[in-house]
Amino acid sequence: MKAAILYGPKDVRLEEIGTPKVGPGEVLVKIEAALTCGTDAKVFLRGGHPRMITPPAVFGHEFAGVVEKVSDGVERFRAGMKVVVANSAPCNQCFYCRRGRQSLCEDLLFINGAYAQYVNIPSRIVKQNMHIIHEDLSFKEASLLEPLACALHGIEEANITAGDTVVINGAGPIGLLFIQLAKLKGAYVISCDMVGERLDMAEKSGADEIVNVSEVDDEVETVRKLSGGFGVDVGIEAVGNPSVWEKTVSMVRKGGTVILFGGCAPGTKFTLDTEFIHYGELTVKGVFHHTPYYVEKALKLLHLGKINTSCLITGEMPLGKLEEALNKIISHQGVKTAIIPW
Ligand SMILES: [Zn+2]
Ligand SMILES: [Zn+2]
Repeated sequence: MKAAILYGPKDVRLEEIGTPKVGPGEVLVKIEAALTCGTDAKVFLRGGHPRMITPPAVFGHEFAGVVEKVSDGVERFRAGMKVVVANSAPCNQCFYCRRGRQSLCEDLLFINGAYAQYVNIPSRIVKQNMHIIHEDLSFKEASLLEPLACALHGIEEANITAGDTVVINGAGPIGLLFIQLAKLKGAYVISCDMVGERLDMAEKSGADEIVNVSEVDDEVETVRKLSGGFGVDVGIEAVGNPSVWEKTVSMVRKGGTVILFGGCAPGTKFTLDTEFIHYGELTVKGVFHHTPYYVEKALKLLHLGKINTSCLITGEMPLGKLEEALNKIISHQGVKTAIIPW
């Protein structure tokens, strides 16, 4: 099969490699579409991922396709079925899983290898996070499942109620999903970013107000003014930058909720104003990844047509142009590109 192999920083090569072998409980999926993602762009720039990818290796993790081969012991799937697979599955046995916190699983099993013609799905993921997709949902659209499940996890932790004012810092793919989900909750949504094209997408995604942070003196003041002077009910950080984490906290009103979703570089820290947190009774939450529950819910939203997918998938390219597609993410051109390996 054809696969994109990552050899090191910015070194990806299209190669012919053996189709993966299918072990007990596993399913071989013929990939019909894979989406580019900020995480893959980071993996491409750094030449790997400390927890998931040691080069040379296949990568890519947002995909959908058709079941090619099913091993003994797999009951829910047969060859020819249209499926989508989320990129991980928890162990359901560790300390955190037993407490219902599967995104904190000590043994989260990840799958990578979406930038290829086939991928083998490990049994644990087959059992928990592989789903049949409806005939009218395209492979590209279904591939949004994983980032949508992540954003859904974040939005549910925010406890937004209808009529709330919500600021979303960052209008990359995850920020744009947060905008759509906050609108579904009935919120008034303010989107902040420093890239004009991204803010155009934020507007198309349903944001009520957009703030270009590179064009205002003080984005915290601007957002507070847009929310009646008190600050927003809910602030969501979808950038992954400690200074934006701090600003997000400052944009929220007393008694409000802050969701810190963007992962920052390891070892970085940020400062909180103790007085504001205490006397302001703020709730500040970190949220990471997804769980099988959110994956299932996210698929339902896609099947119901609740997500505007054209705001998120802005291009299509063959596997041979993966490098170009990843560079588009890095230079903030468009949102996600669908990679078609056939
Ligand atoms: Zn992703
Ligand atoms: Zn676990």
